[in-house]
Amino acid sequence: MVRISERLTRLQPAATRVVSEKAADLRRQGRDIISLSTGEPDFVSPPAVMEAARRALDAGHTFYTPAAGLLELREEVARYYKTRFALEYEAREVMIGAGGKPLLFEACAALLNPGDEAIIIAPAFVSYVEQVRFCDAKPVIIETDPQTLDFSLGDIRAAITDRTRMIMLNAPNNPSGRIYGDDLVVGLCELAIEHDLTIINDEIYERIIFDGITYRNPLNLCPAARNRMLHINGASKSLAMTGWRIGFAIGPAELIKRMTMLQGHNTSGPSSIAQWAALGGLRNGQEQIDAMAAQYQKRKDLITARLGRMPYLRYIPPQGAFYIFADIRAAYGKSVGDMTITDDVSFCEALLEYAEIAAIPGAAFLQPGFFRMSFATSEDIIETAMTRMHDFLAALA
Ligand code: PLP
Repeated sequence: MVRISERLTRLQPAATRVVSEKAADLRRQGRDIISLSTGEPDFVSPPAVMEAARRALDAGHTFYTPAAGLLELREEVARYYKTRFALEYEAREVMIGAGGKPLLFEACAALLNPGDEAIIIAPAFVSYVEQVRFCDAKPVIIETDPQTLDFSLGDIRAAITDRTRMIMLNAPNNPSGRIYGDDLVVGLCELAIEHDLTIINDEIYERIIFDGITYRNPLNLCPAARNRMLHINGASKSLAMTGWRIGFAIGPAELIKRMTMLQGHNTSGPSSIAQWAALGGLRNGQEQIDAMAAQYQKRKDLITARLGRMPYLRYIPPQGAFYIFADIRAAYGKSVGDMTITDDVSFCEALLEYAEIAAIPGAAFLQPGFFRMSFATSEDIIETAMTRMHDFLAALA
């Protein structure tokens, strides 16, 4: 018999995937399910990406690349950080991974010893906790104010112990779309400096921002944190390249070197063609990125206008990304058919069963009482979904 390691037995499947698979199952049974559950753009990758991939194929770029990724792409990412945030990085401070996720994982592996602690601010991306746990370290969850979804610096300070090694910061946030205020970001950086912690700054959604808001890299607000901050970014969301698997990590050379070593023994780096494709997207895709961002803005305006008129539900206006996170606690105790809503999980089950809408319970993001809807889907689908949701909520008794 195969004996699976304890480390792996502890691992939980990503709830986002579980819901998507359940929705796909129901669809196979002939049910007309609308999925607001997936965290990926509905756009095909832009022409700049496709053309660069074709050129790479024609040029025979089918060999291993350096484990840290193509030099040309690392240089382009460094150039992007200079233009976008006025931050100076060299190519040796950049690495390319097969998506943001493996880079987050490599960062955890590089920074955490067994028994160490990593601070994770709720609501949080589904993989942070599992990755930290997989490294035999302890996730320490900071709960946020359900009214604003802001964290408190006092809570973070109180959570820091002599085993704390890192803090995960994610803005625009998945699932809430929140961009934290400058004071909070500066305070967090100052705490990291005071306690010698590394900040993982996951800004993978930084090119999808709404209502003319300016997103600022934390180092623009607190330059003193430069040697203790790793930025996670990538092509999946802004370039609509989820399936190509390309992410970027930008940070202190020593950390990048260690993460690269691990990547060298694991995947040897991401696909060569996908890297050339991402390079094409970064160099020539600005117009197409802007066009997608404009679509997300329209969809955000549409979905918030509709949600604003619904009973029981209170949403936190997103400032970026393509998600709405809504508080559903007011519907607790209400029933539909033979189902009673007692928490966010039973709410999402009832929504799937009676409104045929797939959405993700907040518990999956460490924030029970809420649920996440993705609006990376067409305006027509959003309209239909919102009509169904309105009818569903209005019928609760
Ligand atoms: N970080 C956040 C906050 C995300 O939402 C995601 C994807 O959903 C990722 C990282 C990982 O993205 P990928 O591995 O597809 O590049």
